[in-house]
Amino acid sequence: MVLGSDAASGPAASAVPPRGSGRHIRLTSHSGAADALPIRWGAATAAERGPVLGTTTTRAHRNVIGTHSGSYSVYRALAVAAGALSPAHRADLTNTAPTDVIGPYPQWAEPGAIVSLDPWGAMVADAFSAELAAGHDIRPTIAITKAHVILPEVAEAIGKGRLRPDGRVLLDNGAALVTKAAIEPVWFLPGVAARFGCSENELRRVLFEETGGMYPELVTRGDLEVFLPPIGGQTVYIFGQPRDLADPDVELTARVHDECNGSDVFGSDICTCRPYLTHAIEECILGAQRGGVGLVAYSRKEGRALGEVTKFLVYNARKRQVGGDTADQYFARTECVAGVQDMRFQELMPDVLHWLGVRKIHRLVSMSNMKYDAITGSGIEVVERVNIPDDLIPADARVEIDAKTAAGYFTPGPVPDADELKVAKGRGLTP
Ligand SMILES: [Zn+2]
Repeated sequence: MVLGSDAASGPAASAVPPRGSGRHIRLTSHSGAADALPIRWGAATAAERGPVLGTTTTRAHRNVIGTHSGSYSVYRALAVAAGALSPAHRADLTNTAPTDVIGPYPQWAEPGAIVSLDPWGAMVADAFSAELAAGHDIRPTIAITKAHVILPEVAEAIGKGRLRPDGRVLLDNGAALVTKAAIEPVWFLPGVAARFGCSENELRRVLFEETGGMYPELVTRGDLEVFLPPIGGQTVYIFGQPRDLADPDVELTARVHDECNGSDVFGSDICTCRPYLTHAIEECILGAQRGGVGLVAYSRKEGRALGEVTKFLVYNARKRQVGGDTADQYFARTECVAGVQDMRFQELMPDVLHWLGVRKIHRLVSMSNMKYDAITGSGIEVVERVNIPDDLIPADARVEIDAKTAAGYFTPGPVPDADELKVAKGRGLTP
């Protein structure tokens, strides 16, 4: 496809000229504009904190590095390039207000408690109405709505008598009632650097260099401390009353789940991701029906944040290795391809819990020691850990679960020994 000369005849042709055609490029690396509102990260009120302004409609107002919508910021640029979207478009936020108010909670102003999302991101229309009226194009980075979720596993649990519709949390047609929130990443760079034990300068330099120099302000604009990274965000699903999440006396059942498209959506049986997720949803429904509240926090960190290409390469490497797919080589095969065993880095994960005001998780539906350590290390109490029931583990996922429990994942059962880990339990590549 050739862009440019014949663009007028293309399907995307419109009245909007592609940005940048015949114009000079606006460098972002000069120092701060006088019109930009300050951000005082961690301030106790929205007014003191100030709005996050990542829109490009009025560049002098920008007070962050990067733009909104996480990884979708690149699609927005494509829409502008194709002439389908005016770069000057401002969102009409009529009727988009959150269905439920989250916070503010004390954690929002605790130093270092939240560094990877904007706790005020859902309430910008209220909190910054004066700035919006004055012409600042402030966008929400969090949206909160209601939904019914219908899962075949929940219908099966009803059929087997494990779940009972109550017309409040679970309807007769198998739909569970949820409040859900979508959250875009908003990074306070000094705080993110502190979580990873590196200097802010080092973090900025590496982010700049390892993205091929995508955001020069990382290294030229030390005055901009907030970065909207082009990565996936997260979604939370709440079963019961969202305000109960912040009450340590209300039983909280929670799972923090990292995306696994192959299993979560397509039912691939090489791992336990979907069975564990749906088990957590069942536990959340039961907890909410007991008068508690349930929470699933879902992070877009596909394949341990290595991406699906790496993940599928690892699957092949595991299944073709001498001796077959064994638990004792599970992490080694990932490390061979990716250089690390895992890039999810749970250090930032507890932020979403602090945004929700969580102080205590009564039932954590996770076996991951990394998630458990990150949550408890951030000051949240965990009372009980809930493992995936054995009968929900697909046969081909036995390799994964054995390797993980041997590596320190929580299990109430026996931990496999070295000989057990050498037994090939995974299927080969041929049927
Ligand atoms: Zn998986």
